[in-house]
Amino acid sequence: MKRRLTLHFPREAVHQPITYRLAVDFDIAAKILRAQVAPNQSGTMVVELSGDIDELDAAELWLESLGLGLNRAPGEIRIDASRCVDCGICTSLCPSGALSSFAPSWRLQFDAQRCLVCEQCIPSCPLEAIALVLDQPPVADTVPSVARLP
Ligand code: SF4
Ligand code: SF4
Repeated sequence: MKRRLTLHFPREAVHQPITYRLAVDFDIAAKILRAQVAPNQSGTMVVELSGDIDELDAAELWLESLGLGLNRAPGEIRIDASRCVDCGICTSLCPSGALSSFAPSWRLQFDAQRCLVCEQCIPSCPLEAIALVLDQPPVADTVPSVARLP
């Protein structure tokens, strides 16, 4: 299974070979979606972990034992259809295929089931149509989610 985590590194943990240890000790593949970690400073990394569920649970405990803060997906991505102009910029940055647009309409489609909540799309939108919604309030006018894209 896959699990998306945001890892918060304290200064003393930034030199840990996290992805190597996850692979060797837990048989977990770690795909780094976003990272802001400078040498000798605290940092943040968004990762998608793939592996056995028991190993994922064990790996989370190990990461916490190193002093890292762990956050599961903190909310949902919402797209304001009243702002979106279907320019497609965000689709080129989405690592999971959750955002897409196809001919002939080129209308933006958002597949929430594929979204990793990596937040890479948020700063890409020139219209500020994409937002991370933490408390999931009802939104009346959003791009509808699709069950599964081809
Ligand atoms: S947060 Fe945005 S870029 Fe990341 S997977 Fe979801 S839709 Fe794609
Ligand atoms: S970048 Fe913004 S305006 Fe362009 S398709 Fe994506 S959500 Fe719509």
